[in-house]
Amino acid sequence: MKRLITLFSMIACCWPMSAQPASRSNPRFERIDAHAHVFNTAPEFAALLEWLNLRILNICVVDKHDPGFEEVEPQHAKALEVFRATHGRAAWCSTFDPQDWESPGFAKGIILKLNKTFDDGAVAVKIYKSIGMELKSKDGKYLMPDNAVFTPILDDIAARHKTLYAHIAEPTSAWQPLDPASPDYSYYKGNPDWHMYLHPERPSKETIIAARDRMVKAHPRVKVVGCHLGSLERDVNEIARRFDLYPNLAVDTAARIPYLMLQPRDKVIAFLTRYQDRVLYATDLEWMPNDKAEEAVKHWESEYERDWKFFATDESVEYHGHQYRGLALPEPILRKLYRDNAVRWVPGILGKSTIIRFGLS
Ligand SMILES: [Zn+2]
Repeated sequence: MKRLITLFSMIACCWPMSAQPASRSNPRFERIDAHAHVFNTAPEFAALLEWLNLRILNICVVDKHDPGFEEVEPQHAKALEVFRATHGRAAWCSTFDPQDWESPGFAKGIILKLNKTFDDGAVAVKIYKSIGMELKSKDGKYLMPDNAVFTPILDDIAARHKTLYAHIAEPTSAWQPLDPASPDYSYYKGNPDWHMYLHPERPSKETIIAARDRMVKAHPRVKVVGCHLGSLERDVNEIARRFDLYPNLAVDTAARIPYLMLQPRDKVIAFLTRYQDRVLYATDLEWMPNDKAEEAVKHWESEYERDWKFFATDESVEYHGHQYRGLALPEPILRKLYRDNAVRWVPGILGKSTIIRFGLS
């Protein structure tokens, strides 16, 4: 088998670029999935990364409603184990629990804990939708991402050359009745706590996004990756508008590639071409402690294959029973989307202390 692989890679590297078949299910370069969740040290996972020539950013996140994600420390410990078990191919993103933000010394304590994770190799910090959608002050006001309590934490992240992963707000469908045609239907059906339509007393999406934008603007030295297309999933023009305003903002595609399929193909190609330095390929795939390796490998492989077909070829891609034509992006853009943007926006993601500054000094 090993000899076969070697032979195949020799053929691949000698094949003239123009003669490459467009339907190849994998690229010839190393890819990075800039947003996934792996809390399992199965050797099959490390083998999969090697086999697919893939790296991931493994993201810790506190979600009190999602089993396995309730607490910070066990996730940090596991992410570090996964980092080691994959020989650094699964770089990791730490997080903090904001629920005690009104306690004295909150920011100072969080900075100490985050700095410890940086010492352990964390290259980014995740903040989550509970900020804006759930957490309330003692006097009943919703905690927003532009709250001053986060300022020293964000300053520390910038000073340590780490990246902020901001999952703030949700798809617009969270504020709408359940719709079987929506890509998010099963998520909100299974997670009523996050289905804002059922909680009309909570802030609107517009209010939360405006506070997120103010936070991004107020901290130009912090590199911010807006998770899930920055929660602006329905219209790439909305993302473009923020990119023009905030040079420190990028987005990842985690769990929102179907929304790119739903928009006009030419518009999405124009967006990914114009902003080719600002979008990070990502999936949101999970590999949790009880997941069976064989099924997980199959699922991960098929997701990467479908996504690659969509971005790299003009073949028909099926999603939820509908067919969408692939974008057939040129290789230089694919390389940025699938790898180089993650390297630039998340210094250290390659497992080395590569601090790359780009006008954010
Ligand atoms: Zn995620």
